[in-house]
Amino acid sequence: MPSELLDDCFEHNRDSLRHDEALELLKERIRPAVGVEPVALDQAHGRILAQQVRAPRPVPAFDNSAMDGFAFAHADYVRLGGRMPVSARIAAGHASAGPLEPGTAARIFTGAVMPQGADTVAMQEDVRLEEDGGGRTAIIPAGLKAGANRRRAGEDLAEGTLLLEPGVRLRPQELAAIASTGAAKVDCYRQLKIAILSTGDEILRPGAPYQPGRVYDSNFYMLRALLEATGVSTTDLGVIADRPQAVRTALEEAAAGHDAIITSGGASRGEEDHVVTAVEKLGHLHMWQLAIKPGRPVSFGQVGKSLFFGLPGNPVAAMVCYLLYVRPVLIRRGGGDWPVPHRFPLPADFDMDKKAGRREFVRGMVRPGKDGRASAGKYPRDGSGLISSLRAADGLIEIAEEVERIRPGDPVSFIPFSELGIG
Ligand code: AMP
Ligand code: MG
Repeated sequence: MPSELLDDCFEHNRDSLRHDEALELLKERIRPAVGVEPVALDQAHGRILAQQVRAPRPVPAFDNSAMDGFAFAHADYVRLGGRMPVSARIAAGHASAGPLEPGTAARIFTGAVMPQGADTVAMQEDVRLEEDGGGRTAIIPAGLKAGANRRRAGEDLAEGTLLLEPGVRLRPQELAAIASTGAAKVDCYRQLKIAILSTGDEILRPGAPYQPGRVYDSNFYMLRALLEATGVSTTDLGVIADRPQAVRTALEEAAAGHDAIITSGGASRGEEDHVVTAVEKLGHLHMWQLAIKPGRPVSFGQVGKSLFFGLPGNPVAAMVCYLLYVRPVLIRRGGGDWPVPHRFPLPADFDMDKKAGRREFVRGMVRPGKDGRASAGKYPRDGSGLISSLRAADGLIEIAEEVERIRPGDPVSFIPFSELGIG
């Protein structure tokens, strides 16, 4: 049984854990725990690379033209004052018939091999052609620099370049780069399988007729989409009633076939909260009171071989806690590099008083400021159940523990949702 989550390192003896300490604990303990499989490049978007990728030959493989135009030797162009007979025609994909005849130019097209002897290309829009008897002469304007409009072999990737290391998540740009080396498949880490469980007697799946006192299950759809954005595969294990046995059975079944289980709701130590007790009985649990808002408490644990994350039921807290803690753990567990979101300093355009000692993640909007520069706005209402606030936000404003007040113009640290994997 993997033991990282059972380790004493997860124990801490304070009433509440600071955000940085929580992340540090997780980062130190979590190791990749999935196998490797070959993946066809056209299926590899979003997957985590498990191998190095090198360029077996230069990219581009040969000097070529960046333009439709005329290729020539720059020295001849200077010597002949830009008048050069056209002696060859070279289209993309067709190797040049031979070296360029000295003192002449070749009609050439974008991506075509530069003929031996030519080092410069004039774009066709700038060139005038004169017909003279059997042939044509190109009249090329003065002022072109040697090497203009020529792409060098290896200017994108030199032969042997190590372009990718294991742990990288493959974005469209990475797929293009791998394809440019000629590889049709790459070794990737197997995708983690994650079970999602909603809990609560009040929770109703959309589609069912509304009943008094019930709440439609927002968290399942939100978490499933967040998990997909993290690059893992998901299983919907439905809504579990607030009964100890039902919760235990559901967790046991989930643990059997999944790398991790994510629950929302029922994660406190209230009378109707059975998740925490069930995980303690079935496996191991570390319940963290995090000194953050919104959030607390968040549980990490293990049931069988499966990791366990217990998120708060309120949608805002569930999403923020997922993004801050669960997402990096899953990325690392699935073989990826521990992600560190970039923060961007922006002047606040709001007033706020806050308690010292806890870190707040405020739903924030980027706004054009009075002077035309961007500033960070704060969603005006606070409630942890306000899904509207998540929709209005462009990201999270992170406010450090020691800060007690923010006045308009104060610099704040803004984390765009894109830095947290939400497109
Ligand atoms: P709990 O963490 O179970 O005490 O739930 C806290 C709040 O979140 C309650 O108002 C729940 O009704 C709400 N909640 C719990 N689960 C969900 C869910 N899946 N979708 C929407 N709201 C939920
Ligand atoms: Mg509940």
